[in-house]
This record gives sequence, C-alpha cells and structure tokens, in this order.
Amino acid sequence: MASLADLPLRDNLRGLTPYGAPQKQVRVALNVNENTHPIPEGVAHDVVTSLAQALLGINRYPDREFTTLRERLARYVGHEMTADHLWAANGSNEVLQQILQAFGGPGRTVLGFPPTYSMHSIIAAGTDTTWIAGERDPGFELTPSLVTEWIEKTSPDLIFLCAPNNPTGTPLDLDAITAAYDATNGMVVVDEAYAEFAPDGTPSALTLLEGRERLIVSRTMSKAFAFAGARVGYMVADPAVCDAIRLVRLPYHLSALTQAAAIAALDHTDEMLAMVDDIRGQRDRLLAELPKLGFTVWPSEANFVLFGGVHQPHALFEALLERDIIIRDLGIPHHLRVTAGTEQETTLFLETLQDLGGAEFGRQ
Ligand SMILES: *Cc1c(COP(=O)(O)O)cnc(C)c1O
Repeated sequence: MASLADLPLRDNLRGLTPYGAPQKQVRVALNVNENTHPIPEGVAHDVVTSLAQALLGINRYPDREFTTLRERLARYVGHEMTADHLWAANGSNEVLQQILQAFGGPGRTVLGFPPTYSMHSIIAAGTDTTWIAGERDPGFELTPSLVTEWIEKTSPDLIFLCAPNNPTGTPLDLDAITAAYDATNGMVVVDEAYAEFAPDGTPSALTLLEGRERLIVSRTMSKAFAFAGARVGYMVADPAVCDAIRLVRLPYHLSALTQAAAIAALDHTDEMLAMVDDIRGQRDRLLAELPKLGFTVWPSEANFVLFGGVHQPHALFEALLERDIIIRDLGIPHHLRVTAGTEQETTLFLETLQDLGGAEFGRQ
C-alpha cells in the first residue's frame, strides 16, 4: 500500500491529521457533546412514517431547495426569520464548509480564537483557506477590544466566533460580535451549536441579523435536538448569503430521507427539546461537584464542562476508559472535557472519578 507521501496531495494538506475523536463502544459516552437521551419513541415512530413516505418517491431527486425544511427551521428559530433566511446541510460542519467555499478559499484567511472547535481550522484547511489563530484572555473570554485588536492586526476575510465556545463553555457577549462586525468588511460567522443550553433569556446573535448582511449564525440539530446521527445543521443569514451558498453547494445535497426526518422531528420540537433542562441541571451538577473532588471548572453555558487541575490528563482519560467511561482529552495541558449526560451517567462519572482519587489522581 502507498502512503500519503506518495500522492500528489495539495501542499497545504501535507502533514495534517483528520478529525479523530475516538469512537468506542463504551457504557458511558461523554466525549462528543451529544445529547445522551434517545429521542422519544413516539417521535421516532412519526419520523419512521415520514421516512416511509419519502422512500416511496426515492426514485426522484429530492427537493433541491428543501423548502418545507427551511420553512420549519424558520418557524423554529423565530425572530421573524423566513425560509429565505435559512439554509441547511448535512450537519453544521457542512454549512461551515460551504461558507468557506463561497467566502474563503485560496488566498483568503479566516480568524478564529483557540481553544475553540477543532473543525473550524480543519474545514479551513480543507477549503485551502488560511487559518489565523487569535488569542483569548486568560479566562478564555473574548472582549470587544480583544476581537477588534486581532481583526485590525490580521485583516481576515472571515471571522469565526463560537457562542458558547467549545471546548471551554465560555459565553460570548453580543458586544464582541457587533465589535467584530464593525471592525471588518468580511463575513462574521457565529457558531451557536449549543445555544439552546444557555440560560433562558440569553440573547442569540439572531437578534443582530437585521441590517447586517455579512453576519451568519450557524446552528445544529446535533446537540440539544438529540439528532446527531441524522446530520442536520443550518444557518440563518441575509437571503443574499444563502444565494452565495447556492453557488457552491452540490445539487440535491440534502437527501429526501434527511429532509423527511428533520421535518418530522421539527414537528415535535417541544418533545425533542424536553431533556435540555435536565441536561443543564447535570451540567450545573458537574460545575458544583468537580471542585469538591479537587478540580477547577470553567463556567459553562453549554452541555459540557472543561475542568482543570488534572495532573495527567491522558492517564486519567485512560483510567476512565478502562471503567467504560469515555470523556475528551483535547490536549489542553492539565485539562479534560466532559459532556453532561443523563443523571445516571453523570453520577457514574463522578463516582468513578472519586474512586480514582479525584484531583489526586496522577500526582507524582
Ligand atoms: C458539535 C458542534 C457542531 C455540530 O456539528 P454538526 O456537523 O452539526 O454535527 C458545530 N459547532 C460546534 C462548535 C460544535 O461543538
């Protein structure tokens, strides 16, 4: 077998590694911020009925404009958005890729603020958009002045902001978004994958869209909506931005089955989102309990917690894995990230951590 080095690969991809969060069969999987509650059985039956209907027409290409799905998503996001403001794809990762295909590419740059969602820089590389790594303040926060300083220093074509930020959980004030918008002539993308887990009343970047045609808010059904396996993400933006994406999307990129499943799920929004409060409760429990085991925690408005004070992150990750629990080692020194699971999963995680000695684990 040949190796990558034998292939005429594009130069900017040489030496890179693919996204690779471990996928393992374990009892307690708290590593990729999924909603660990299955969707309600009644909703699953309605999704199946909808899929069966779609299957009867599967000899034809699907609705290329996925109009019904865009209408349902517009109704879900509210803020007076219409189907014209909505675009969807196979996960918000694909939406972000399409955004970079249209607005990034060779000779263009995208500014992000690590530690942040690892796919942002990977999608940049895949589209040959140069990734510029900005910096956060010591508390992982992004102030309007810090964002503005980085934009003025680097003049990026796009800016990726993540609200709340993965993997730190840090919320982002709307002021930082408007400051970014005012400091650039480029596109500002706010990744709100975890928006539904923020405290009630937290304003979304959706409230800023009016009159800002270079602002994009990306969302997903993968997390709060418990639909990660279906691969449905979407963005909300000025209709002109959706038209720009139409220039790069593959025709019929959203299968008839994906559209049918997503529409059926959106018809049961309340039931699909029913576990969000419970998950927020488990997140708050992690925030309260991890310090009692000697760890430090970062404030989180998402469904996960980044905790520090870990002497040997990789060894602790492995010790938990041996006990059938997987969490995430992101390579941040002395830190690990854990997803808020069901009450039972969270209990098992905390009890196992205690058995392992809490923050004493790995101390030389
Ligand atoms: C999980 C996650 C996504 C979701 O990706 P999908 O492709 O929609 O599953 C997007 N952005 C961030 C920051 C995430 O953590």
